[in-house]
Amino acid sequence: MFSTAFLDLPALQGASGTVTLPGSKSISNRVLLLSALCQGTTVVHDLLDSDDTRVMLAALRQLGCGVEAQGTMVAITGLGGRPWHAEAVEFFMGNAGTAMRPLTAALAVQGGDFILKGVPRMHERPIGDLVDALRELGCAIDYLGNKGFPPLRIGTPTLQLDKPIPVRGDVSSQFLTALLMALPLAANDRAITIEVVGELISKPYIEITLNLLARYGIAVERQGWERFVIPAGSRYMSPGSIHVEADASSASYFIALGAIAEGDGIRIQGVGADSIQGDIRFMDAAAQMGAKISSGPNWLEIQRGSWPLKGITLDCNHIPDAAMTLAVMALYADGPTTLRNIASWRVKETDRIVAMATESRKLGATVEEGPDWITIDPLPANQWQRASIHTYDDHRVAMCFSLAAFNADQVPVRIEDPKCVAKTFPDYFEALFSVAHATAQNIPVICIDGPTASGKGTLASRVAAQLGYHYLDSGALYRVTAHAALLAGLTLEAADEAAIAELARSLPVRFEGEQVLLSNVDVTDAIRSEQGGMNASKVSVLPAVRKALVDLQHSFQRLPGLLADGRDMGTVIFPNAPLKVFLTASAAKRAERRHKQLIFKGFSANINTLRADLEARDARDMSRSVAPLKPAQDALQLDNSSLSIDTSVEQVLVWWQSRQVFG
Ligand code: C5P
Repeated sequence: MFSTAFLDLPALQGASGTVTLPGSKSISNRVLLLSALCQGTTVVHDLLDSDDTRVMLAALRQLGCGVEAQGTMVAITGLGGRPWHAEAVEFFMGNAGTAMRPLTAALAVQGGDFILKGVPRMHERPIGDLVDALRELGCAIDYLGNKGFPPLRIGTPTLQLDKPIPVRGDVSSQFLTALLMALPLAANDRAITIEVVGELISKPYIEITLNLLARYGIAVERQGWERFVIPAGSRYMSPGSIHVEADASSASYFIALGAIAEGDGIRIQGVGADSIQGDIRFMDAAAQMGAKISSGPNWLEIQRGSWPLKGITLDCNHIPDAAMTLAVMALYADGPTTLRNIASWRVKETDRIVAMATESRKLGATVEEGPDWITIDPLPANQWQRASIHTYDDHRVAMCFSLAAFNADQVPVRIEDPKCVAKTFPDYFEALFSVAHATAQNIPVICIDGPTASGKGTLASRVAAQLGYHYLDSGALYRVTAHAALLAGLTLEAADEAAIAELARSLPVRFEGEQVLLSNVDVTDAIRSEQGGMNASKVSVLPAVRKALVDLQHSFQRLPGLLADGRDMGTVIFPNAPLKVFLTASAAKRAERRHKQLIFKGFSANINTLRADLEARDARDMSRSVAPLKPAQDALQLDNSSLSIDTSVEQVLVWWQSRQVFG
């Protein structure tokens, strides 16, 4: 997840590849419980691994279900047709609402001797409306703490199912979902009617429940949104195997991506055209605008069709969340796009009509808005502005505007507060970068070169963290090369140049946070020693070795950007980098810092020897024939002898901002 203050998206050129979206939370726990109520085994694929599903799985095991998990696949052997756990069971539900409500209902209708409790916060979450409805039909439920809240004790019911069962619909749709999933257990010989009291909220979630029930053999008759009838003779039947769908609204960004970006197309793994989620109908709107979409069980493939896209006028009442994505697609159309019947946008995380209009205008677009509609004109080439997109703590605004990075003028787009996507899709930007392409020229590199112990590494990694960029410690590559050469029994002299270069060309090195791994062995301490630095300095004078490491260094230039530190980042490896810093500090100061570092780590060290070593290394680095240590012509010099790290970081960021101006 990017938790930086902002994320600068370089201009993107195309996209191709596969994104696998995580399973939907609301579908996961429904599927687990329904599988538990069936006879036989149901194989559940793509289950979301979350607190809520873990709690549900533990409870099902306690009840006597067979639960066999393997990665994101779980085989559930249900309780249907056999007696449930006979002895008293106490369930711990943590803070998992999507497990607590439906399980309470199922246990209460089935009957037994059960206690359901959770963390303190769970005991503050109301459950009274569900308990009232269950008592109305004869369930035996007692409050063990405060009235209206868990913990609960459940006994044996005397079911009275002849009159309609009232349940409130205006507090949480989870109460109705819980009843809809529990009551088929009691519908062998009679139809059961549920009546919603008050306006039903979150209808799409009830739709998901009804759809899933149908897959498990229960055909609920829905009469408007007021009455639901479970037909007599209903009996749970396992579908054999079932895929938990990914969230369809999250899929909309990648559907749009496929329609907008040049490339071999985007494949979305996790949700298909036959999805039970209302927002999947976004794909029809995207197709109307020009996307070419094909689908199979649990996947979608999208390619650019018409280009530019076609402007459309659409009533978006059925896809309120995903429709925001159409507003950004509209910038790439051949005429205006009007989205109607979107009054609900006004009362979401933010007033989304205002947000989409304001931020699109920052990009240069012409937008008109009304109480429940918005019209967006296409944004032609030569008119795109470099904009800093405010995201209003609204995940969808952030994800939508990332698609503006494909603009014809190839200007970058700044997304403020990128971590707001965590609400539904914490790794959204990572997923985007895994399929999006940008030219090397568009992926920014900030180079920090300078002599030994000038603090380049600390500075570069701190700036990288602030910008959400990757980090290349090129010195570590020379250190690892020297280490690998010694392990292979080579000398570090010119005589072995070809053999060392050969090693360097396919160096099995990996960085994991602070750790450096060579063939999966942690070599961090070995290469970070003073001797390791000296050895690196020796192999780094060998031209064939330097050449062999070029491709590896270039491969670090990935979206969204790179901080590279070393000796020749600005002069040789990334000569076109838009910002180059040459960091220096007096030899005395550098020796003093290195001394402190070593003492802190518990090594003994002599400051004068350290200084002599530093100077010897600098002399060798500066005098070698290939890529000698010197500032690039266009480098900005920073002497940090008397600067704190924070001040140096601040200075580099100020220089970077002045080169990356967003309106
Ligand atoms: O930066 P660090 O101290 O880890 O670098 C170790 C040695 O690797 C340097 O003294 C230098 O000789 C060599 N080096 C290089 N070019 C780079 C980075 C490091 O020659 N880009």
